[in-house]
Amino acid sequence: MTQYDDKETEIYEWAKQNASELGYVLNPDYDIVAMAIKGLANNKKKYGEQYCSCREVSGNKEQDRKIICPCVYRGKDIEQRGACKCALFLK
Ligand code: SF4
Repeated sequence: MTQYDDKETEIYEWAKQNASELGYVLNPDYDIVAMAIKGLANNKKKYGEQYCSCREVSGNKEQDRKIICPCVYRGKDIEQRGACKCALFLK
């Protein structure tokens, strides 16, 4: 089982809470969740924002705002495919 550092734990707890508030769940596949959470935490440490780990950060703050998790695409992706692009959040 992967160990989370403080920032990763914080993001994991946020993701759980955010999912439950919206009627979503986190992916039951622990490895997928760990990869997404670690990616978000790395981006937060590197760029100061929890940018999506399965999308490319352009460096244009205005444009990249769309991919701060939860990205603007999440609702539509979950509605259409049952999962967000990183498969962290599921229906
Ligand atoms: S696809 Fe969107 S909602 Fe899913 S982890 Fe990436 S930023 Fe978050």
